[in-house]
Amino acid sequence: MKQSDNVGRTSGLKIAGISLMLVALTALAGWGIYAIPAPVVDRMLESDLRHRAAQLNQQVASHLHDVEATFKHGILDDHDQEFLELLPETSDIYRFKLFDSEGRVFWSTRAADIGSVNAKPYFSEILAAGGSYYKHEEKPISEVSGLNHEVMAGSGKKTCHVAEIYTPVIKDGQFLGAIEFYTDITPQRDLFITRVRWSLAVLCGVALLALTAVILVIYRANRTQVRDLRIRAAKERELMDDQLRLAREVRLLGELNEWLQSSRSLDELFDMVSRFMTHILPEAEGSVYVYSNSRDVLDGCASWNGGSHKAHIHPEGCWGLRRGRTYEFGASEIDFVCEHAEPHDGRPYFCFPILAHGETVGLLHLRAHEGSGEAFHDSKKLAQLCAEQISMAIANVRMRDQLHDQSVRDPLTGLFNRRHMTETLRKSIGRSQQTGAPLSLIAVDVDHFKKFNDTHGHDAGDMVLRAVGSALEQGCDRDEIACRIGGEEFMLILPDNTPDDAMTRAEQIRQAVEAVSVRYGEKSLPRITISVGVAHYPAHGVMPQDLMRAADDALYAAKDKGRNQVQVARSGTIVEPTANKGRENAQTAQPAPKCSAA
Ligand code: GH3
Ligand code: MG
Ligand code: MG
Repeated sequence: MKQSDNVGRTSGLKIAGISLMLVALTALAGWGIYAIPAPVVDRMLESDLRHRAAQLNQQVASHLHDVEATFKHGILDDHDQEFLELLPETSDIYRFKLFDSEGRVFWSTRAADIGSVNAKPYFSEILAAGGSYYKHEEKPISEVSGLNHEVMAGSGKKTCHVAEIYTPVIKDGQFLGAIEFYTDITPQRDLFITRVRWSLAVLCGVALLALTAVILVIYRANRTQVRDLRIRAAKERELMDDQLRLAREVRLLGELNEWLQSSRSLDELFDMVSRFMTHILPEAEGSVYVYSNSRDVLDGCASWNGGSHKAHIHPEGCWGLRRGRTYEFGASEIDFVCEHAEPHDGRPYFCFPILAHGETVGLLHLRAHEGSGEAFHDSKKLAQLCAEQISMAIANVRMRDQLHDQSVRDPLTGLFNRRHMTETLRKSIGRSQQTGAPLSLIAVDVDHFKKFNDTHGHDAGDMVLRAVGSALEQGCDRDEIACRIGGEEFMLILPDNTPDDAMTRAEQIRQAVEAVSVRYGEKSLPRITISVGVAHYPAHGVMPQDLMRAADDALYAAKDKGRNQVQVARSGTIVEPTANKGRENAQTAQPAPKCSAA
């Protein structure tokens, strides 16, 4: 599972939890605001009222003429009576009673209470011990005498909170009695409760706001963290994709290299290039051109992935070849289209000159597919690597071709050598054996060449040999090959030639050589002639050496018969030529047909 998803889920759960907690806290605060103030205010008032009662107790005790007599015997003089009656008016108490030590009321602002006895345990246990006793009750207004009921009724209230405080009267350590004060605490209590509630509400509001702010900050921090993680995850994914792509490209390049190295011909090589390039650079179509032997044009060799190639292009028409380096069309503000890329639709392309051993041998042309956009430009490096590999492979194939050529060609005439001829003859015989196709072999020897050499020199002789070689090569068709098997001796392998065809071809060759004119310095060398022997497979042999010997025998027969003529071997016997019977000197022979007839 992705890390960012985990974080996102955790963050979501956190926020849900915090929101629930916030709702719970709001509910709790509401309950607290309603419930908490009353007990708190009551406790505050109790403490305050106890203190106030103690003061009133002192005040009463100090104003009485004789406290001891008053509380022991209930004696009150006029002055005492007046003070006691005025007390509710000068204080916030609305009623009070005086008790003797037995709990009997001996004076009260409500006459009906006089004589009653308070036998409650707190009287003897708390008050007698010097403590005060506090009682708070909510009573219907009608039950509370001494209050201004009209005023109270006007306020809309039906009950009021009454505090009764008993305070002991003690003199010289002796418990004389007690005074009970009644006070209406409703207004203060309501006022305090309202204030505390408001304070709590404000406090809770502030706390909730602070909490909400904290949650918001945490939420935003979480979102930022999640976003960062997502960005990081995307980058990592991108990096991984890049690495995978790179690994694939390296693998494909390695495979391409391996395959190209094993290719034996340029055709095979370009076939491999086409297949690999389609996979390595799928966003590009491509083609490859190689310089022709004349080097004036490049020949189109292969194209792939929807691309096409022209038969020939001119090197001056390609900016890559002209400037000797990679040309990228579509990367600059000002571009020029290569001639070979026309007709051009504006799509970007690359031209990579292909180099082999420091020499430009070809061109790799890659054009972007429609809509491939940046991907094509990004592939430049890879394309360059491909071009380098293709260059190396072409160089290898060329070098191999050159080495092969050197091993099968005669350096003087450029014709195939004896070894190659023998091999080719064996293959041709094998093919004819299988298919039944005719096969002919022609042996050629220059007449009186020793004399020619002696007269005109070895160099002139070489020039003549080259000219003869060229004439023989030009006399060959498709699968036919001409070879120099040594000195001034040559052989031609003519597959698919019937005996009649071969005789005609041999005569044509004889005439062609006879017509050769070689200039040596200022002068023209004298024309030379050849003697020709023809043998057929299988009539004159089924093994290469037998066939060669038969052709040679026919050749010697031609020599014997006067040279400058064609003789055919025939089942071990040489048939006399019909057109040149009795000819003695080949070099002076007439151009009439000089072949033997079967
Ligand atoms: P024939 O008509 O009987 O074939 O007479 P010929 O003189 O041609 O035959 P011969 O075998 O007596 O002489 C062959 C000559 O060919 C000998 C040599 O001087 C010459 N020759 C062989 N190889 C070369 C070569 O590479 N260059 C040159 N210039 N001459 C060569
Ligand atoms: Mg010879
Ligand atoms: Mg000769």
